[in-house]
Amino acid sequence: MIIAIDGPAGAGKSTTARALAERFGYAYIDTGAMYRAVALAVAEANLQVPTDNERIAALARTLPIALKDNGQRIYLGEREVTALIRTPEIGALTSKISALPEVRHIIVQQQRDIARRSEQECGGAVLEGRDIQTVVFPDAPVKIFLTADLDTRAQRRLQQWQEKGEAASSQAAQQDITARDNRDSTREVSPLQAAPDAEHISTDALTPEQVVERIAQIVQSKLTAQQVRAVSL
Ligand code: C5P
Repeated sequence: MIIAIDGPAGAGKSTTARALAERFGYAYIDTGAMYRAVALAVAEANLQVPTDNERIAALARTLPIALKDNGQRIYLGEREVTALIRTPEIGALTSKISALPEVRHIIVQQQRDIARRSEQECGGAVLEGRDIQTVVFPDAPVKIFLTADLDTRAQRRLQQWQEKGEAASSQAAQQDITARDNRDSTREVSPLQAAPDAEHISTDALTPEQVVERIAQIVQSKLTAQQVRAVSL
């Protein structure tokens, strides 16, 4: 079972994806964290977009990105970078790095490998990102496109920053979200978009539990259909 959850920044993807993974005992794969890990390495190597694009791709190819603790902790080799990749600066750089086709090619391959391995090990994976239902797993049985108003999303982003001790204003959060939305939706390679057969869920008027409940019902009906098919074969 592959559950693909896409949507813009601050739509509630992480909370939803984590809860679903826990509920069904599946792996949680935060694909944004993988691009963020590349961005951190790029920043630390002092490489620039677009002048160093080839070196950035070479770096991405050899970067030992590892997801541990069921996707909750991100490592570069032995070094934990979970907190380092969450700063506003790395977020902004990530959306530039992730627009590079070479980088996407490398990271998408890794995402497919991790998800396939997880399917073997625990029966499924919940992937959250921008292009999961369109590019990484276009055949995923469950495709969810999460959205929320700009205000709601900026508020959530601000809260996340504040919880991490970052000094930020709500204006900065709005600007960050708007800039990232624009770049992620208008880039040439794998722009943020819903698959034609995606289930659209707006999270504004729903609690996180209600969002999870709605998706869990969809997952359950797909699992039942798979079982019925398996029995009739
Ligand atoms: O989800 P998160 O905010 O951590 O993602 C950071 C950035 O990584 C996004 O703004 C987007 O540019 C990029 N990303 C992507 N494709 C994905 C996941 C994230 O391009 N599947």
